[in-house]
Amino acid sequence: MEVDVSPLQLREAVAALERLYPPDTASSWDRVGLVTGDLDQPVSLVHFAVDPTLAVIEEARAAGADLLVTHHPLLLRGVHSVATTSAKGTSVTSLILNQIALYAAHTNADVASPGVCDALAGACALVDVGPLEIVDGVGHGRVGRLASPLTLRDFVQRLSTVLPKAAGGIRVAGPADALVSRVAVVGGAGDDFFDAVRSAGADVYVTADLRHHPVLEAREEARGGTPYLVDAGHWATEWLWLESARSELLRELGARGTSLNTHICTLRTDPWDFVIGAATNNNTGGTS
Ligand SMILES: [Zn+2]
Repeated sequence: MEVDVSPLQLREAVAALERLYPPDTASSWDRVGLVTGDLDQPVSLVHFAVDPTLAVIEEARAAGADLLVTHHPLLLRGVHSVATTSAKGTSVTSLILNQIALYAAHTNADVASPGVCDALAGACALVDVGPLEIVDGVGHGRVGRLASPLTLRDFVQRLSTVLPKAAGGIRVAGPADALVSRVAVVGGAGDDFFDAVRSAGADVYVTADLRHHPVLEAREEARGGTPYLVDAGHWATEWLWLESARSELLRELGARGTSLNTHICTLRTDPWDFVIGAATNNNTGGTS
């Protein structure tokens, strides 16, 4: 519900976001920060989403948002046109015509504390949480433990109650009845971190976008043992961050005596719509 707030200048909202998610902590290949908008434009309502899709931009417009904060960048690679002949061009044009500033906090939000991986660690109910790997002084991923061990099945079942639902569900590699305690997490695509997960002694690794060969090889190396793997979905594992970003932005603004209205996107931007033919026995697997 909206309350009366004095609009801020976009530059104030951007400054708050950059205190929370410093752009210089983003990966070198990444493109974070302000995509559209005028730093002098007023901002009253911020909309938070994982992906700046056309439907999300339309939802932000219909809500009357002046600032859309997304995790994924709209323009990661070079573009030569923002005409409405392409979806990205339509997105940029719509944002500009509707005076919606777009701001992306991507790999800088992954490594922030609290950031994307903390939100996933929280959803997994981890305690004693620390970085999974430290690269150049920056902590990537998180590892912690469950307050008491659970079976792999119960752990994932519990996680499923706090993750938003996606068509693909949650895929698990490992024996359903094995007890797990130490858990590593990386929100979004995380198959670069298998070595760190093994070094951290994790019983289970929760991430997304796990592909056939890396997963099969990791399960072969584990000889059926730990780490078990959980592919909880790219959108779902990052969606958890939206509430964190919203509350952190409000806290940051509140510390300076300002506030804004906020919305969290209600749209599922996971691109998959339905699944057919999934195996129904969830307690068997060739390598588990
Ligand atoms: Zn992502």
